[in-house]
Amino acid sequence: MLQEGARLSVTDVNGYQTTHVAAQYGQTAFLYHIVTKWSANPDVCDNNGRTPLHWAAYKGFADCIRLLLYLNASRGRQDKQGCTPLHWAAIRGNLEACTVLVQAGKKDDLIVSDNTGLTPAQLAADKNHKQVALFLGTARKLLDRQDGKSFLGKFSKLGLAPLLWFIILLLLMTYIHSVVMAPNLPRLTAGLGLFAWIGVFLTTVGLVPFYRCSRMDPGYIKINIHDPENMKDEEPLLKIEMNNPTLLAGNWSQLCVTCKIVRPRRSKHCSTCDRCVEQFDHHCPWVSTCIGKKNKWDFILFLGLEVLAMLLTGAVALTRILTDPMAPSSFGAWWNHVGGQHIGALSFVIADLFILSGVVALTCVQASQIARNITTNELANVMRYDYLRGPGDQFHNPYDHGCKNNCSDFLIKGYNEDIELLEAPSTEHEGIGMIQPHCGNLPNAIVGLSHKTNGNAHVAIDVNISKHDGYNHCSHHDHSHSRKIESGPLGFGRNSARPAVVFG
Ligand SMILES: [Zn+2]
Ligand SMILES: [Zn+2]
Repeated sequence: MLQEGARLSVTDVNGYQTTHVAAQYGQTAFLYHIVTKWSANPDVCDNNGRTPLHWAAYKGFADCIRLLLYLNASRGRQDKQGCTPLHWAAIRGNLEACTVLVQAGKKDDLIVSDNTGLTPAQLAADKNHKQVALFLGTARKLLDRQDGKSFLGKFSKLGLAPLLWFIILLLLMTYIHSVVMAPNLPRLTAGLGLFAWIGVFLTTVGLVPFYRCSRMDPGYIKINIHDPENMKDEEPLLKIEMNNPTLLAGNWSQLCVTCKIVRPRRSKHCSTCDRCVEQFDHHCPWVSTCIGKKNKWDFILFLGLEVLAMLLTGAVALTRILTDPMAPSSFGAWWNHVGGQHIGALSFVIADLFILSGVVALTCVQASQIARNITTNELANVMRYDYLRGPGDQFHNPYDHGCKNNCSDFLIKGYNEDIELLEAPSTEHEGIGMIQPHCGNLPNAIVGLSHKTNGNAHVAIDVNISKHDGYNHCSHHDHSHSRKIESGPLGFGRNSARPAVVFG
């Protein structure tokens, strides 16, 4: 119809354009198509001053909201009732919609009031959507804190890295003063002395990867902030990737509404750093940064060196205390002697063992994840990531190339590439288990994708994938066929009993 001259800007009696209707029915793929290929306006108002974003928020289509925000739809636009999209998401109790809008937004979005003087959180509480009201209240507190004006805000920005520096240096000083060079203990023998100073050396050397890890870029993905005010009308559209295979395959969750990018599959937006991080593992407050693709090696090296150092220094300190020739033989008297004469060394041993137990556990967890080429974030969110599920909804990690390959790749290169291991499904294919560079399509794209979208029971898009050699293709697939138009009444109403405007 468009090829025959159908116009997208035509409105119906309610002032709905095609983009409104697409948003009302959660037709995200169709919306992407008409905006990128046919220059439809994704941010136009209907007769009541509502944009497609208002409608997607009202109906709770989170993916549609992600796309519209990516396309620079205005979050703050108020309709004739003074409601922003967040107001409508709150009124309807759409938690996921609220989450996406808040993630993309600023504090102002949470405090803006509608014509009745109510904020989104108040409206949610009014409608008895307790979870949403709680979420919006917490979000506001968090954003207040992130403003950085409060003491807590400044503190959370700084993280715990300075404290960790202080703890390490304090322990090192205590060790040298009260164990190695303790005046009330005999001089070290040559053998023990060697171990003792190797411990000091390892601790000090370990501070280098610690510094690198906390200062280095963990793998931040370049942001792509459009600035609509400084652009000509057509320009924002030029910035949108026209044929992004991820979007064509309907993987809307890879859209970052804050950074305005289509992020790689294993990355995640870190709310503390406010950036998307490649191969996001976790945000580590102790190093005050994210652990991601580019600093994981330093992180592991730091952990490994400190574990070795703590083992050595702990053992030396224990040996020193236990072999003190001045110590009395009875237990009670010995304990009093140690508590009085070697309090520094004793405190060191206790602190050392306490920290060691935590760091060893963390190191083992990290090492096992490297051996499996999976991140902490992926393990914690297995159920949310389609690519981690194989046939029969069983857990399947496509990036696991076997313990040996995973470890050697990590040790040699410093990271693991996002290379999928695709198993050829049947005998018609040769080269089972060959490696194919990741190109953005999900494993489920192989079998003709029917993408599940975060609880919005609507289908994104069909991708016609050729299966002839069993691999994903990086080429762009024809897409179209948004299907399954939901039917039902449409219309905004704060009271669900109110007669709704019927569409269609
Ligand atoms: Zn991001
Ligand atoms: Zn972070």
